[in-house]
Amino acid sequence: MEQRKGRRLVLFPLPLQGHINPTLDLANILHSKGFSITLIHTNFNSPNPSNYPHFTFHFIQDGLSESQASTNDVVSLLTLLNIKCVEPFKECLRKLVSDNDVSEEPVSCLISDAIFHFTQAVADSLKLPRIVLRTGGASSFVVFAAFPLLREKGYLPIQASRLENQVVELPPLKVKDLPVINTHNPKTLYQLVDNLVNTTKASSGLIWNTFEDLEQSSLASISQQFSLPIFPIGPFHKHNLVCTSPKSSLLAEDQTSISWLNTQPLKSVIYVSFGSLAATSVRDFLEIAWGLANSEHPFLWVVRPGSVLRSEWLEALPSGFLENLSGRGHIVKWAPQQKVLAHQAVGAFWTHNGWNSTLESICEGVPMICLPCFSDQKVNARYVSQVWKVGLQLENGLERGAIEKTITELMREKEGDEIRGRVSKLQEMANNCLEKGGTSYESLESLISHIFSLESFTFSSSA
Ligand code: UDP
Repeated sequence: MEQRKGRRLVLFPLPLQGHINPTLDLANILHSKGFSITLIHTNFNSPNPSNYPHFTFHFIQDGLSESQASTNDVVSLLTLLNIKCVEPFKECLRKLVSDNDVSEEPVSCLISDAIFHFTQAVADSLKLPRIVLRTGGASSFVVFAAFPLLREKGYLPIQASRLENQVVELPPLKVKDLPVINTHNPKTLYQLVDNLVNTTKASSGLIWNTFEDLEQSSLASISQQFSLPIFPIGPFHKHNLVCTSPKSSLLAEDQTSISWLNTQPLKSVIYVSFGSLAATSVRDFLEIAWGLANSEHPFLWVVRPGSVLRSEWLEALPSGFLENLSGRGHIVKWAPQQKVLAHQAVGAFWTHNGWNSTLESICEGVPMICLPCFSDQKVNARYVSQVWKVGLQLENGLERGAIEKTITELMREKEGDEIRGRVSKLQEMANNCLEKGGTSYESLESLISHIFSLESFTFSSSA
């Protein structure tokens, strides 16, 4: 822990699991560097503040009704949050900033999620610098930034007849890899992405949970297009102090995941999880189940309650499905994922390629089977399978025979060995970048200097 800096940072996470985790990790990193931390959080999906006694929490009324507080239509939810949070957030931040006059710990800046685009105008109105945290990867952000071009050239909206066409401006992406999300009003997606990109451009800096060696060319492209300082300081969860802090899971982690893994042979298990938002049809769920069963590999499968459409949990499985596997399969509602991926019994991760899952897999040197569902997951999966070549993508819908074949290819064949070799190299790079002199280590030092350099702006304008 470094000496206290006498400065406070205000962080505002987007209240979804894949955003809360990295924001709290970042808060821990900055706290360990001597900053005091205040978190503003919506009531919706709020983490337990008692897990973070070293932070100050302020909860704001997001005003979401029960039906609105649902992740069934993520674009609608994000659009609503950007409207409903404006006033309560502004009021809360205003109070925190005006306390600057008397507090020994003046607020240096706001660090808010890129998707909370409304916070740029609020920060401007209070003359407080805003630094953006982008919790997704840089490569998918390049694609979001290209949405106007993609629309102009007719790639978007996506037409079913063009799915396999290359997007020549963004190799190696195909049209089917573009990061769209189904929503009842497609225009709101374009509006959200435009706002996200434009307010990021208007910010005072951009923090990434990634590292140079992984996304060098995408980071360079962003630096070129956006004239603002960027700080790739990831992987956040691998910074020393972050590992020891409790996790911010919204669902209880089932610790039998680890006791069950302890009984399995080295690198034999397929870990299967599609994150906190993705849902599957009963048909796809059954193909996954039979693909896993027929593969003859042990598997640990996270099935979130409600993630199989029109089912509560596992009712769609044939009766006796697990029993007939004689202990070869273990299903939980939520797992301690980072510990699972670090476990010696895990040999592969079948993932939806949310950015956190992708990065966590790389950090543990675990090869992937990619089944992206929506948004940036599609870009991440293409990078995993074709750029970094550390996984195999299930391309043509879900079918048990293809699943079994892909698992065999990854676990037992020569291609699998090559993939394992490459992911081990990336794992080593992920570790090295956090060491003194490494790119993320140095970038974090630059971020801290940058925060101090913003103060002339903050304190002269609030004087
Ligand atoms: N996660 C977890 N247990 C699970 C499934 C997921 O702890 O059973 C965590 C995972 O480690 C990651 C986050 O939830 O940090 C999911 O984020 P990601 O970006 O991968 O996907 P999203 O949920 O946003 O689609």
